Amino acid sequence: MASRTARYPVDLHMHSTMSDGTLSPTALVREAARRGARVIALTDHDTTAGLPEARAAGARFGVSILDGIELSAWIGREVHILGYFVDPTHPGLMAVTERQRTGRERRARAICARLGELGMPLDPEPIIAAAEGNVGRPHIAAAMIAAGYARSNQEVFDKWLGNSSPANVPIERLSAAEAIDVIHAAGGVAVLAHPGVDDFSAEVPTLVEAGLDGLEVLHPAHGNDMVDRFRALARQYDLVQTGGSDFHRPESPVKIGHFGIDDATLAALLDRRPCDAAPAPGV
Ligand SMILES: [Zn+2]
Ligand SMILES: [Zn+2]
Repeated sequence: MASRTARYPVDLHMHSTMSDGTLSPTALVREAARRGARVIALTDHDTTAGLPEARAAGARFGVSILDGIELSAWIGREVHILGYFVDPTHPGLMAVTERQRTGRERRARAICARLGELGMPLDPEPIIAAAEGNVGRPHIAAAMIAAGYARSNQEVFDKWLGNSSPANVPIERLSAAEAIDVIHAAGGVAVLAHPGVDDFSAEVPTLVEAGLDGLEVLHPAHGNDMVDRFRALARQYDLVQTGGSDFHRPESPVKIGHFGIDDATLAALLDRRPCDAAPAPGV
């Protein structure tokens, strides 16, 4: 059983420059090797793009790489679902990551089209380009103010872009159940990431119903009381208790290998893989 503060050579949660980390996949694996990690999972947000580079670096630096992903999904609010041992080339998973990548841009274009119908034409492309991959309603509001359609952000949201306003288009969301399903379809296991951040205890039964395999009990944001609570929930619902550093940058006090797990937990996680899944390479 993994303990909260001990450092184990298996770290199941980290990010590279392919999402919001500051180390390239190669630099991340080099850092993992330097810290004595033996097995790591690269779990970039909504992408598996860093996995080939991480694997190549793993072979070079003697670190086993688990194919991972951290999917942003929705269960009344945003929730993160970790997928382990997924096939990064699985068409269903690739379609989901592509949808996640382009969803915000599609929404921005749809909102601008509605504004055009309302007599306030706006070209969405410069707004999307300026937002550098993360376009949202505030960017459109700023463009509307610049175009003279409104005087303030407040006015834009009150009249046009608020949640039930005429020019708002809801963002397309991946449900938590869909996230779990696509992870399973890609041969992986699904783990609820950092359930203590925004406390997802109440949603655990629904997620278990949807096929959840594990709870990320050990995480830098979890205090001892949360760890105890989620351990109890994991036992109650027969979930694997995982952990990871959620490493993003070397300057952070949390290093690769912190909040890691032991080999027995890794084996338990491997056991949860769908029975028709291909053997997990590298483990
Ligand atoms: Zn997360
Ligand atoms: Zn993360």
